[in-house]
Amino acid sequence: MTITGSCLCGSIQYSADVDQYTSALCHCTDCQKWTGGAFTSNALVPRSSFKVTKGTPSTYDVTGNSGKINKHFFCSGCGSSLYTELEIMPDSTVIKAGGLDNGAAKLGGKIDLELYVKDRVPYLAAAEGAKQQEAM
Ligand SMILES: [Zn+2]
Ligand SMILES: [Zn+2]
Repeated sequence: MTITGSCLCGSIQYSADVDQYTSALCHCTDCQKWTGGAFTSNALVPRSSFKVTKGTPSTYDVTGNSGKINKHFFCSGCGSSLYTELEIMPDSTVIKAGGLDNGAAKLGGKIDLELYVKDRVPYLAAAEGAKQQEAM
């Protein structure tokens, strides 16, 4: 299947051709800061399957707890958080699922994995059936 996404203003569009993807919530404080939300919902896709089809995202590098770079891609026009590429996961692109089009933001209604649950805000419960990881 091809999943597509875009930013709020439409200047940036992307797509990924995937058989399936891993759905993950991340509760880390960097994700909270970057998005202004309590967590990020993500579709992890093979980096080779991912391409930007319109526009050029801006980037911001953050040094993660691993000491490696987490590159954040966003739209400089409207500020939408789009995706990240982590040095520690060189084969994956981490799409911020809120940008996905045509209802794909719901990630099929199923979360495979939750990361940094130690930072999860107390008003949220664990997603049913999702593997729980304290940190990365
Ligand atoms: Zn935009
Ligand atoms: Zn995170």
